[in-house]
Amino acid sequence: MSFSSEVSAREIFMGKLKCGSDLLEELTQFCSEKNIVLGRVEAIGAVQGANIGFYNQESRTYEFKALDSELEITNLTGNISLKDGKPFVHAHVTLADEEGKCFGGHLAAGTKVFACEFIVHAFDGPSLERELDEETGLPLWRMAE
Ligand code: ZN
Repeated sequence: MSFSSEVSAREIFMGKLKCGSDLLEELTQFCSEKNIVLGRVEAIGAVQGANIGFYNQESRTYEFKALDSELEITNLTGNISLKDGKPFVHAHVTLADEEGKCFGGHLAAGTKVFACEFIVHAFDGPSLERELDEETGLPLWRMAE
């Protein structure tokens, strides 16, 4: 069973992030500045180090893994919605080391940009606000069922 709402495309932004900045915080900041509360984000580039999460479904907590090395952002895909009334970026990343071996997970603060090119696509539509979902313990979208 699925739940969805219809959205329509608004403007698309292409940009880059400054070396040394925090990947998740900068993307969130960008959305706040442009007042984007609904949309999608993608990015490629490289990081100097990363912090990625894995949600342990049993304990219902995120386990974070710090990767203290240079890595390529081979993919970053995410969405933008509202949490506590503010733009919230939920993104997952796949990061490759020098051998092309990949790590992946839930993007967390503490991922340091080396270079990053991003695309943010803003949408118009009913706002999606996150709230605690009892079944999963995650802050999921509140949607009419
Ligand atoms: Zn996630």
